Amino acid sequence: MIVVYSDFLPYAAERLLNDWCPNLAGEVHITVDPELNVDGHCISICDDEVHISLRSKDLIVLAHELVHAKQYLKGELRGHTWKGKQYEPDFFHCPWEQQAYALENTFKNHLQLL
Ligand SMILES: [Zn+2]
Repeated sequence: MIVVYSDFLPYAAERLLNDWCPNLAGEVHITVDPELNVDGHCISICDDEVHISLRSKDLIVLAHELVHAKQYLKGELRGHTWKGKQYEPDFFHCPWEQQAYALENTFKNHLQLL
Protein backbone atom coordinates (compact mmCIF):
# COMPACT_ATOMS: atom_id res chain seq x y z
CA MET A 1 0.00 0.00 0.00
CA ILE A 2 1.12 3.53 -0.76
CA VAL A 3 0.86 6.00 2.12
CA VAL A 4 0.63 9.70 1.37
CA TYR A 5 1.75 12.42 3.78
CA SER A 6 0.48 15.81 2.70
CA ASP A 7 -1.39 18.92 3.76
CA PHE A 8 -3.05 18.94 0.36
CA LEU A 9 -5.58 16.20 -0.47
CA PRO A 10 -3.69 13.34 1.22
CA TYR A 11 -6.64 10.94 1.16
CA ALA A 12 -7.58 11.62 -2.43
CA ALA A 13 -3.96 11.25 -3.57
CA GLU A 14 -3.59 8.03 -1.59
CA ARG A 15 -6.83 6.60 -2.93
CA LEU A 16 -5.89 7.46 -6.51
CA LEU A 17 -2.46 5.82 -6.30
CA ASN A 18 -3.72 2.69 -4.54
CA ASP A 19 -6.68 2.26 -6.90
CA TRP A 20 -4.34 2.64 -9.86
CA CYS A 21 -1.56 0.38 -8.55
CA PRO A 22 -2.95 -1.85 -5.78
CA ASN A 23 0.26 -3.84 -5.38
CA LEU A 24 2.66 -0.95 -4.96
CA ALA A 25 4.06 0.00 -1.57
CA GLY A 26 5.88 3.08 -0.39
CA GLU A 27 5.59 6.60 0.92
CA VAL A 28 4.73 9.77 -0.95
CA HIS A 29 5.42 13.07 0.80
CA ILE A 30 3.81 16.17 -0.68
CA THR A 31 4.72 19.72 0.29
CA VAL A 32 3.46 23.03 -1.03
CA ASP A 33 6.21 25.63 -1.36
CA PRO A 34 5.27 29.01 -2.90
CA GLU A 35 8.97 29.72 -3.44
CA LEU A 36 9.42 26.77 -5.80
CA ASN A 37 10.81 27.85 -9.18
CA VAL A 38 8.74 25.30 -11.14
CA ASP A 39 5.05 24.33 -10.93
CA GLY A 40 5.98 21.03 -9.38
CA HIS A 41 8.53 18.26 -9.22
CA CYS A 42 8.92 14.77 -7.92
CA ILE A 43 12.14 13.18 -6.69
CA SER A 44 12.98 9.68 -5.60
CA ILE A 45 14.52 9.52 -2.12
CA CYS A 46 14.95 5.75 -2.17
CA ASP A 47 13.18 2.77 -3.75
CA ASP A 48 10.07 3.21 -1.61
CA GLU A 49 9.94 6.91 -0.88
CA VAL A 50 9.27 9.87 -3.15
CA HIS A 51 8.86 13.56 -2.43
CA ILE A 52 6.60 15.83 -4.44
CA SER A 53 6.90 19.61 -4.23
CA LEU A 54 4.17 21.90 -5.57
CA ARG A 55 4.29 25.67 -5.95
CA SER A 56 0.55 25.93 -5.30
CA LYS A 57 -2.43 23.72 -4.57
CA ASP A 58 -3.03 23.07 -8.25
CA LEU A 59 -4.86 19.83 -8.97
CA ILE A 60 -3.49 19.33 -12.43
CA VAL A 61 0.09 19.69 -11.20
CA LEU A 62 -0.61 17.32 -8.31
CA ALA A 63 -2.14 14.82 -10.74
CA HIS A 64 0.92 15.10 -13.01
CA GLU A 65 3.40 14.60 -10.18
CA LEU A 66 1.47 11.63 -8.78
CA VAL A 67 2.08 9.88 -12.10
CA HIS A 68 5.81 10.43 -11.58
CA ALA A 69 5.51 9.16 -8.00
CA LYS A 70 4.06 5.89 -9.30
CA GLN A 71 6.79 5.67 -11.97
CA TYR A 72 9.50 5.93 -9.29
CA LEU A 73 7.83 3.57 -6.81
CA LYS A 74 7.28 1.01 -9.54
CA GLY A 75 10.93 1.28 -10.60
CA GLU A 76 10.00 2.36 -14.12
CA LEU A 77 11.85 5.64 -13.85
CA ARG A 78 15.36 6.17 -12.47
CA GLY A 79 17.06 9.42 -13.40
CA HIS A 80 16.64 9.51 -17.17
CA THR A 81 16.30 5.76 -17.50
CA TRP A 82 12.83 4.50 -18.33
CA LYS A 83 12.17 0.76 -18.04
CA GLY A 84 15.88 0.08 -18.42
CA LYS A 85 16.46 2.34 -21.40
CA GLN A 86 18.40 5.61 -21.13
CA TYR A 87 16.82 8.73 -22.65
CA GLU A 88 18.03 12.21 -23.43
CA PRO A 89 16.42 14.66 -21.02
CA ASP A 90 14.08 15.98 -23.71
CA PHE A 91 11.40 17.25 -21.42
CA PHE A 92 8.19 16.82 -23.40
CA HIS A 93 9.01 13.75 -25.44
CA CYS A 94 10.48 11.35 -22.93
CA PRO A 95 8.07 8.51 -22.11
CA TRP A 96 7.61 9.36 -18.43
CA GLU A 97 6.48 12.90 -19.32
CA GLN A 98 4.23 11.59 -22.08
CA GLN A 99 2.56 9.29 -19.59
CA ALA A 100 2.19 12.09 -17.04
CA TYR A 101 0.70 14.50 -19.60
CA ALA A 102 -1.60 11.81 -20.95
CA LEU A 103 -3.05 11.02 -17.52
CA GLU A 104 -3.06 14.37 -15.72
CA ASN A 105 -6.53 15.49 -16.84
CA THR A 106 -8.17 12.18 -15.99
CA PHE A 107 -6.43 12.07 -12.64
CA LYS A 108 -7.36 15.67 -11.87
CA ASN A 109 -11.01 14.71 -12.36
CA HIS A 110 -10.59 11.67 -10.10
CA LEU A 111 -8.94 13.77 -7.39
CA GLN A 112 -11.88 16.17 -7.44
CA LEU A 113 -14.31 13.31 -6.90
CA LEU A 114 -12.45 11.47 -4.17
ZN1 LIG B 1 6.56 15.72 -15.46
